[in-house]
Amino acid sequence: MSFNVDLNNCDREPIHIPGQIQPHGFLIAVDDEFIIRYHSENVSDFIQGLPTRLLGKHLDEVEYVLYPSEQTGYISQLITLGKNTKTFEQINPFQFEFNGRDYYLIIQPVNDLYLLEFELVTAEMSVDMQKMIGRSISEMLADKNLQNLLNNSAEQVKKVIGYDRVMIYRFAADGHGEVIAEAKNNHLEPWLGLHYPASDIPKQARELYKLNFTRLIADVNAIPSKIITLADGEPEPLDLTCSQLRAVSPIHIQYLKNMEVGSSFSISLLYKGELWGLIACHNYTPRYIDYKARESSKLIGQILSSALEFRQDEESQHLQDRLFASVDKLSKHMQRSNSIEDALSTQDVTVLDVTYAEGAVLLYENNLISFGKVPAADDLNGLINWIKTDITDTFFSTDHLSKQYPAALAFKDVASGIIVSTISKEMGEYIIWFKPEQLQHITWAGNPEKPAEVDSSGILTISPRKSFEAWSETVTARSAAWSNEEVKAVIRLKEELTYAINQKASAIRLLNEKLKQAYEELDTFSFTISHDLKNPLSVIKSYSQLLTRDSSIRPEAQRVIERIVDRTNKMNYMINEVLDYSRIGRSDINFVNVEVGPMVNEILKDLSLVYSNATIQLTIGETPDIQGDQVMISQVFANLLSNAVKYSQKSTPQVVNIEGKATDNGVLYQIKDNGLGIDIKQLPKIFELFNRTDDVKDIEGSGVGLAIVKRIVEKHRGKIWVDSEPGKGSTFFVEFSNPA
Ligand code: ADP
Repeated sequence: MSFNVDLNNCDREPIHIPGQIQPHGFLIAVDDEFIIRYHSENVSDFIQGLPTRLLGKHLDEVEYVLYPSEQTGYISQLITLGKNTKTFEQINPFQFEFNGRDYYLIIQPVNDLYLLEFELVTAEMSVDMQKMIGRSISEMLADKNLQNLLNNSAEQVKKVIGYDRVMIYRFAADGHGEVIAEAKNNHLEPWLGLHYPASDIPKQARELYKLNFTRLIADVNAIPSKIITLADGEPEPLDLTCSQLRAVSPIHIQYLKNMEVGSSFSISLLYKGELWGLIACHNYTPRYIDYKARESSKLIGQILSSALEFRQDEESQHLQDRLFASVDKLSKHMQRSNSIEDALSTQDVTVLDVTYAEGAVLLYENNLISFGKVPAADDLNGLINWIKTDITDTFFSTDHLSKQYPAALAFKDVASGIIVSTISKEMGEYIIWFKPEQLQHITWAGNPEKPAEVDSSGILTISPRKSFEAWSETVTARSAAWSNEEVKAVIRLKEELTYAINQKASAIRLLNEKLKQAYEELDTFSFTISHDLKNPLSVIKSYSQLLTRDSSIRPEAQRVIERIVDRTNKMNYMINEVLDYSRIGRSDINFVNVEVGPMVNEILKDLSLVYSNATIQLTIGETPDIQGDQVMISQVFANLLSNAVKYSQKSTPQVVNIEGKATDNGVLYQIKDNGLGIDIKQLPKIFELFNRTDDVKDIEGSGVGLAIVKRIVEKHRGKIWVDSEPGKGSTFFVEFSNPA
């Protein structure tokens, strides 16, 4: 039979209100008026001669018995002092003698009450503790090496409290713990390196360790003493959160008994207010440590905590500096370079250096660049698809990728852990870092999977684990954890990247504006120039024509003059073309429904006048209407059709065809001829201004027509392309989309 037990049972046990205390001391709780509201039943075990009923009595009644010859009201004065100065630290412990034994009184405020805890002073502990602690601390800190610091600390605590085993126990992020240093009596087996599941020290116990820095369980077999109170019915239990004597949870007592431990003592180790670990001490027989010795151990714990904190800060600063230095370099490269992609991938530092990962990929502007060890192409594509669909946050990290994306098991040796920083989800742009599987061999003290038992009545209960044999487990498909420093560096890189992208975008926008302006100026310029050229040209032409009528001029000279007239005609034609070209740039489209059929007929009629000798096999297919500018569209067809006819003159038979068809969102026309065709190398150039192919020198033309066509089509947000084969013919395609 197997049970899936929620170990958080322990997490819910109200361990701060056990209703009883450990019997090595006694407890009295008084209110503001010093009236006794609660006390432990064992008061009379320590103080004989007290009134039979203490509850409801004034505290003075106890003091009469404690030191009859002296004045009473001592304790109430201490309470008032603590209350006024808002601290009891200076007052604690108050020491007094009763019946030949020394006692410590420790006072703590709790809600509206004051806890008075009395415990014995141990003679053996009263050796010069101060000196001993001083020596311990300097020995502890003598070594710079971290492991030695931990070992020394364990050793020194062992000296101060004289326990059989002292361990330094560190909590991992998931709450489980590991013994990282140990000082023990020789005959004991070592527990160094053992791991304990998180359930061994439940959450609320860990919270209490943050409030009370030491915790003594003097004797696991001691029978606790009940706390009694006057109130009827269900009285409010006394809150023992800050109590020294607080009784121990039965589950924990059983746990210690299973380990054959007689008494236990722990000192909290904190890192920035959080529980970093514990100095956990075990004695195999009951052993009481008095308040001062506990306080001394606490001091050792605090010094160790701050030494650890200092080292950890220093180390984390060092790690952080290295990663931030990489981010700074990348950010400088991004500022300097035109290409963000180059800046992040080609310099001495790359995105890989932003973390301690072993591989990274940059997905930017439809490119993928890899660094270091990354999954194979197919695996990577699968992972990227998963990221695109499943990861919604701009930052994502895991050290156990296959838990969320099981396919990652196949490449766990490269990517058991990943960090994803999203540059743009819409564009599918990311930086991903990879850490390989880090095989951890964890030695559990007992099997953490089997902590539950069913009692005789069949009820499932949590019982402390009985088996403390080392139980090994290999944790697979996990990478080393991503540190805070790495996460911070990734976030900083993202900020720098966003800044650089925004800057580049505005630079491009600015450049675009300038380009547009320059373009407009150029159009105006060519328009003006062409316009101004027309005048002198027509004067040249008129005078030349006059000269041709002069019979005194020699016939050879006459022929030269005829040539001048011919060339001025050609120049005039070209100027008109340039004017047409620049006019398109300057004018707005006047969208109308253009009926292409009649328009094509008109054009062909004009063409037949020019090429009257030719016998052309002309076919006109469907001619769907186009939404566009009437004049401009007619220029498009006039140019394309005249080219088709012009460049197929030499073919027999000469075949030209035009046809259109409606598409999903517009119209597509094709103008086909069986003429010269165009060499593939020349194809991209034919749409440029004044560009003509080498083989058409003997055919009239200016090289402006297609430039005009392209400009018009693009102005209509359409497309033009050509399919052509030298010697076979050309097909020009124009596609107009319907205006939105
Ligand atoms: P042109 O005034 O020279 O015809 P275009 O701009 O209309 O100027 O065309 C540019 C060049 O493209 C032409 O000179 C010619 O080399 C090539 N061309 C255009 N249309 C055709 C065609 N239908 N067949 C072959 N070549 C063509």
